[in-house]
Amino acid sequence: MIGYGRQSISQADRDAVLTVLDSDYLTQGPKNVEFEELVSAYCGAKQAISACNATAALHMAYAALNVEVGDLVWTSPITFVATANAARFLGADIDFVDIDPLTWNLSVERLEEKLRVARKKGRLPKLVVPVHFTGQSCDMERISQLAKEYGFSVVEDAAHAIGGRYHDMPVGSCRYSDITVFSFHPVKVITTGEGGMALTNNPVLAERMRLFVTHGVTRDSTLMQLPADGPWSYEMLSLGWNYRLTDMQAALGISQMTRLDDFVTRRHEIAGRYDQAFADMGLGTPYRAEWQYSAFHLYCIRWPEGLGGLSRLQAFEALRARGIGVNVHYIPVHLQPYYRQFGFAPGDFPQAESYYKEAITLPLHPSLTEAEITHIIQSIGEVAQAV
Ligand SMILES: *Cc1c(COP(=O)(O)O)cnc(C)c1O
Repeated sequence: MIGYGRQSISQADRDAVLTVLDSDYLTQGPKNVEFEELVSAYCGAKQAISACNATAALHMAYAALNVEVGDLVWTSPITFVATANAARFLGADIDFVDIDPLTWNLSVERLEEKLRVARKKGRLPKLVVPVHFTGQSCDMERISQLAKEYGFSVVEDAAHAIGGRYHDMPVGSCRYSDITVFSFHPVKVITTGEGGMALTNNPVLAERMRLFVTHGVTRDSTLMQLPADGPWSYEMLSLGWNYRLTDMQAALGISQMTRLDDFVTRRHEIAGRYDQAFADMGLGTPYRAEWQYSAFHLYCIRWPEGLGGLSRLQAFEALRARGIGVNVHYIPVHLQPYYRQFGFAPGDFPQAESYYKEAITLPLHPSLTEAEITHIIQSIGEVAQAV
């Protein structure tokens, strides 16, 4: 089966990890510092804080923005459940903004409408989390204008989008948001096995997140509130977690960063081949908004009911039967049983639901061989009865 996503591990990656195993630091040490500096410099953000995964990074990002019980957090229904769950960890209430049928990202028009209504009702969100679905950046400038107008914070869930660009800036610059979060899960654009990172230009948010990663504990005497008992002194200043990334993982991340641009270029080459091959087959292919350059974490197509005489489910099964590890991203979060208990129901977000009914994710990663790409293109043609 050709997987929809897969890591690419080089000899340099292996060597980097092995070197750390013989060093003094296995967890948070010099490789974490180096990895953070590398990613923040790449993105043009002032600070980066590594974490054990992106879910943890979202949790500490929301916490740093003081999201708490009873606050309202809005995001897209077409995302991984973690985007919403991290707000639930803090007791916040979740609501969703329907997607744009073209970009499949949270719709800025729907957001603006919903904000107008929410202001009248006196229940505005504290935080909005745009998700750069498949690696395509949301229109952040417009979202940040609304953030100023309506007074909410913005965290970019950029789990799909490291290596992508928004206008002439790398995703992660935080030019139009408070915090941006990346994931380094093996299917994502670069990997550390498990791993995540939160970037920000705000020194107060950075300091809070640094504490949250490691129990809220500091050994920095300039931050301490009480007179030191001795050289062993440490202080717990806030209620944090153990969200540390290990130095083995950070070393893998540093090595993967050297190939990030090549990975994204290769993803674009394959996506371009798909675009061209599928142009006249009657399926929906990814739109490329003019304000961005995608990291192309995922290549999703829309299979209209009946194309090739098949439903989406039948097309999915026919592709799996041909050894193509297609997938579906994502079941709309509001339709999950856990979220339905808060009153969400089918019909709440029609664009997200109609996207989901047709969505199929095709394999897209730098390790795909020419033979695999040809097989995928040919199979889609056969299954859609276009050849
Ligand atoms: C993968 C993913 C996450 C969670 O990332 P982890 O590193 O696996 O915790 C969050 N949001 C989105 C959109 C994702 O795709």
